[in-house]
Amino acid sequence: MSGGDMAKPLLGHRSMEGDPHITPASGRTIGVLGSGDFARSLAVRLVCSGFKVVVGSRNPKRKASLFPSAAEVTFQADAVKKTDVVFVAVFREHYSTLCDLADVLAGKILVDVSNNTEINHHKESNAEYLASLFPASTVVKGFNVVSAWTLQSGARDGNKQVLICSNNQEAKRTVAEIAQVMGFTPVDMGCMSSAREIENIPLRLLPAWKIPIFLALGLFLCFFTYNLVRQVIHPYIREQKNKFYKIPIEVVNTTLPCVAYVMLSLVYLPGVLASCSQLYYGTKYRRFPDWLDQWLQHRKQIGLLSFFCAALHAMYSFCLPMRRSHRYQLIETAVKQAVEKKMNIWVEEEVWRMEIYLSVGIIALGLLSLLAITSLPSIANSLNWREFSFIQSTIGFVALVISTLHTLTYGWSRAFDENQYKFYLPPTYTLTLLVPCTVILAKVVFNLPCIQQRLLRIRRGWEKGRYVKFVLPSATGEYSSGETSSNV
Ligand code: NAP
Repeated sequence: MSGGDMAKPLLGHRSMEGDPHITPASGRTIGVLGSGDFARSLAVRLVCSGFKVVVGSRNPKRKASLFPSAAEVTFQADAVKKTDVVFVAVFREHYSTLCDLADVLAGKILVDVSNNTEINHHKESNAEYLASLFPASTVVKGFNVVSAWTLQSGARDGNKQVLICSNNQEAKRTVAEIAQVMGFTPVDMGCMSSAREIENIPLRLLPAWKIPIFLALGLFLCFFTYNLVRQVIHPYIREQKNKFYKIPIEVVNTTLPCVAYVMLSLVYLPGVLASCSQLYYGTKYRRFPDWLDQWLQHRKQIGLLSFFCAALHAMYSFCLPMRRSHRYQLIETAVKQAVEKKMNIWVEEEVWRMEIYLSVGIIALGLLSLLAITSLPSIANSLNWREFSFIQSTIGFVALVISTLHTLTYGWSRAFDENQYKFYLPPTYTLTLLVPCTVILAKVVFNLPCIQQRLLRIRRGWEKGRYVKFVLPSATGEYSSGETSSNV
């Protein structure tokens, strides 16, 4: 792929920014139907961008004071007559009340900025509905993903992209030109059939985050219950000790690193499964199952949630010595030692264990922050593919190994201490090691030269059992063709 190709967006949506066919449009008169929040912000932005604005209202006298003095506020029919491009800043349910304007709107461009209150609320999109009411006009869907607030504060703040679609290329180009002059980045979403998708975008609540959030909550709940049983319920039942005060900080703080650590390993596990599948089938052209595809697509969000839990764990850990319960315990221990006349309480092994696991934990958190920062689009865009994959793949894997060291040094020899098995339940950290160690082991195996070579060949297009055509010269000098297996 040439450098030029790499610079193009991977998705089919074409950004119109920098299009040589687009000429500056300021000075043109733009019409706005409606005098609500969106219409007002739009008028302000249009005026600031050098357009002449004429607002069509049912009650221009009352509404005029709400608009900048440079904008003309008049009756709807009057406003529409003065322009070729009209933004319809009116709710869908009121479109039919505009039908009287059909004649004056004929041949003009109508920009449908409307949103719905629910995803796929109506059978056809609002823009298609508007087009059906005004067949003599050209409808362009656009600007609905930009809020009135973003319009007011200008494109320097908030979302810069304006998604546009229409069946008429010329009309689409005109609206894109207006968006660009206003400081937005027009994105061509194709023909009118995309309007439904564009109208759904502002209604979606973190679509890429749903699965990772549920995963993190599920893991949190499981580990929290497990830790609660071990740290609170067990002493209460077995020794009648009230340790419920541990729930808000200690139990949460032992749960967070478990979630962070397992989530981090879940970022790398789908890659391992994908490699296994490629090795097993001997091809990279076989589609992964849908669940694996989904999982691969959510790795960024899973990684960010892992970082979030690790950061919370660091903050909770800082707070541990601040707690009143901790101070009482310290004093209690000191008094006990004084009574028992114990002078030297220094345990060399414990000191080293703590020093090492804290240091390793801090390094792991630092690496996780690096991964999180480089996954931000603005930073990721400044890296080339090799730099990005080095950070996300190699440094990410190092972060997983270091987190494993943090967990192991935290646990030390306690996995072999039978007092640690409350209700026969092993310490939580031993459970968390399961998936990460599997991932690390698999990565080590994949790096063995014989397996690495095979994977590399597969990823370059080699296929197991694939037959390739060969051509041999015959005794008569003519060429005969045949087939052979490429993996012989
Ligand atoms: P709004 O404040 O309620 O304004 C709607 C305007 O529609 C009214 O001010 C009214 O102006 C006009 N209108 C024309 N015919 C009407 C009728 N029969 N009944 C009632 N009003 C009528 O709404 P808005 O927030 O500006 O939203 C306008 C459109 O922009 C909606 O389609 C919305 O989905 C879209 N949008 C809004 C935002 C946002 O942040 N607010 C963002 C994206 C898209 P006159 O009384 O002067 O005629």
